[in-house]
Amino acid sequence: MRFPLSLTAGMAGYIAKNKWRPKPEWQVNAVAESGAANPFRIVRSGGERRGKRQPHPMIGKRFPLVLMLEPLHACNLTCTGCGRIREYESTITERLSVAQCLQASDECGAPIVSICGGEPLLYPEIGALTTGLLERNKHIYLCTNGMLMRKRLGEFRPHPRLFVNVHLDGMEKTHDRAVEREGVFGEAIEGIRAAKEAGFKVCTNTTVYKETDMREIRELFTFLRQLGVDGHMIAPGYGYSAVNDREIFMTRDDVHEKFRDIDEIQKEFPLNNSPVYFDFLKGERDLPCTAWGNPTYNVMGWKSPCYLITDAHYRTFEELMTRTPWQDYGHHGDDPRCEHCMMHCGFEPSAALGINARFGDSVRLLSWALR
Ligand code: SF4
Ligand code: SF4
Repeated sequence: MRFPLSLTAGMAGYIAKNKWRPKPEWQVNAVAESGAANPFRIVRSGGERRGKRQPHPMIGKRFPLVLMLEPLHACNLTCTGCGRIREYESTITERLSVAQCLQASDECGAPIVSICGGEPLLYPEIGALTTGLLERNKHIYLCTNGMLMRKRLGEFRPHPRLFVNVHLDGMEKTHDRAVEREGVFGEAIEGIRAAKEAGFKVCTNTTVYKETDMREIRELFTFLRQLGVDGHMIAPGYGYSAVNDREIFMTRDDVHEKFRDIDEIQKEFPLNNSPVYFDFLKGERDLPCTAWGNPTYNVMGWKSPCYLITDAHYRTFEELMTRTPWQDYGHHGDDPRCEHCMMHCGFEPSAALGINARFGDSVRLLSWALR
């Protein structure tokens, strides 16, 4: 699949427009007061990196690319690497209304909405939410563990801008161990089969952990090709504070090693991540974190600074954009929680925005989108 041309072209136009005329109200810096007052901030002692650091090249032109929308945090699984069900345990029974979800989408205006959670297929109004977002011309990734897909598929209609995104971390044994329940892989595969037969676009989402064998990932993609799966996202997992089992996560050096041969996999299978992001994972180019590119909205509000770590929740998107001390985060910043993070939510936006671009990137990106 890669990204469909309509999405690639639409995104290019959206980026050009916002780079040219970023919304002034999102560029205000109200950090001095809020950052200093934030009791959760972790700052590297001595601020040793601060002196050497270049400011983020887009710090004065902030706008979102993908809205991570979490209508609920309840889930029917308890995966080893999942921070959500642990971090939001106290609000796990709460949900956003469809109106709140659509308001969040309108407020930030990102052209892509990733509906995640929790398990979005547990959300009673998931059909109405999807319809509302499609009516707003959004591209949607409906991220699911696949357990309820066969049951709820009838509430959706195939649409060129709707992608069902199924979480699979390996073949049957590996995946069932990661999600801590037998039979999940089999049910997800049956869900994929049903979705493809009904005419939906289906992609998969794989998290790579320390113990992941990349040969098994090839085996998985080969198997999924027989089912007609349209594309795959793949990214390293990261041990942020809400996840207990830190042993399964990788350092930056581990990630470079793990993704060393990703080009070969990319030649063979339709990977949805951009080639520039893969350069970053291989350690062949540096990118700053652009956490505001993938903002997260959930029952607590706009999550700051990013999808992974939480120092605050804000009531409005404008507050998120103006009150988050963005310069403190990312591996060039002062926060030790960011040191080994290479997650797509922080770095794919940097690739899409052309930060640290090299001669030939445009041709590479175009051929990736066209392939
Ligand atoms: S399926 Fe997703 S939300 Fe549910 S426990 Fe697993 S990772 Fe977390
Ligand atoms: S590097 Fe960026 S995406 Fe990763 S934890 Fe830090 S702020 Fe979040």
